[in-house]
Amino acid sequence: MDAWDDSGFNTRAIHAGQEPDPLTGAVVPPVYQVSTFAQDGVGGLRNGYEYSRSGNPTRTALEECLVSLEAPGITGARGLAFASGLAAEDTLLRVIGTPGGHAVIGNDTYGGTYRLFSKVAQPWGLDHTAVDLTNLAAVKAAIVPGRTSIVWAETPTNPLLTVFDIAALAEVAHAAGAVLVIDNTFASPYLQQPIAHGADVVVHSTTKYLGGHSDVVGGALVVADADLANRVAYHQNAMGSVPGPWDSWLVLRGIKTLGVRMDRHCANAQAIVELLTQHPRVTAVLYPGLSDHPGHAVAQRQMNNFGGMVSFRVAGGVDEAVAICGRTTVFTLGESLGGVESLIEHPGRMTHASVAGSTLEVPDDLIRLSVGIENVDDLLADLTKALQ
Ligand SMILES: *Cc1c(COP(=O)(O)O)cnc(C)c1O
Repeated sequence: MDAWDDSGFNTRAIHAGQEPDPLTGAVVPPVYQVSTFAQDGVGGLRNGYEYSRSGNPTRTALEECLVSLEAPGITGARGLAFASGLAAEDTLLRVIGTPGGHAVIGNDTYGGTYRLFSKVAQPWGLDHTAVDLTNLAAVKAAIVPGRTSIVWAETPTNPLLTVFDIAALAEVAHAAGAVLVIDNTFASPYLQQPIAHGADVVVHSTTKYLGGHSDVVGGALVVADADLANRVAYHQNAMGSVPGPWDSWLVLRGIKTLGVRMDRHCANAQAIVELLTQHPRVTAVLYPGLSDHPGHAVAQRQMNNFGGMVSFRVAGGVDEAVAICGRTTVFTLGESLGGVESLIEHPGRMTHASVAGSTLEVPDDLIRLSVGIENVDDLLADLTKALQ
């Protein structure tokens, strides 16, 4: 619980965990670029700080802000910051998974997450089944009684923008005694707070919308239950994949403007979706805000808006898709997402090349946009030119 938990989202983003520095009154948490802390006699820690892997005040500020954004008012919930999204995921898997155990994951999971499950967790002994998480009967059927301890979902998904019903998945997971993990990277806590819908753990790549400026790699977990949170915190220190103070500070600085950025990301994405749905060279537009999107009703229920990610398919197949990605000038050709600048990419050859040939393979005429916060007219003109 944070003193700011009753305040609105943008107020929490700016103030939670970020009281003026007690020593100087600095209104922004300083970068405590330090590895170790003086003790007042053996074991006499000042405010609990001992060594920066275990805890650093800049990281603490970020962690307190994160929990206030994702789980306001939940006693015992904790935010934990990591060196990357995948470092957060790996640490979590060592706590909620065991050798001999099993996880049910989406068949449309971020490629790096799938690689972690299939190439790292699997050899360690943690098995998984990838299923269509919109099909609750399939989720139930994939659960192995006594072995499945994890249901892992990303919503909306990357890059197909599929939407899963968090509350329904929570019911299925909890009936099996499993933990529901939601990767909330695409929505950000401004658009969706999975813990309020029954999720146990929220995962973020803070590299994306939370950082928001394509200048830092980071990850986070927000854990609702105090006991589980303490176990994850133990592993965070024991495994050591923590962010440094500068990276923590950059993410925290990004978070302050999350709300205003997301409003613009959503508005720009909406305008681009309108252009694409009417374009003769576009064969499909994947965006949860479209009324004919299969997950639209669920998205309306569990999201405040539909986000800045748009995927679409084009006539002319892979060659044309690749050519379009090379013709934009405002949209930069690149991986990652969630920054202020617009990005375009070809998932089949770029972010999702590692899942080619697996059940997670994506169509090769698919293009993914991370719609930035530039002037929308410039974005529309750039895409119109590239699609000609
Ligand atoms: C980028 C991303 C990750 C991995 O995060 P890193 O910070 O790159 O390690 C996980 N999930 C989703 C949905 C992502 O987009």
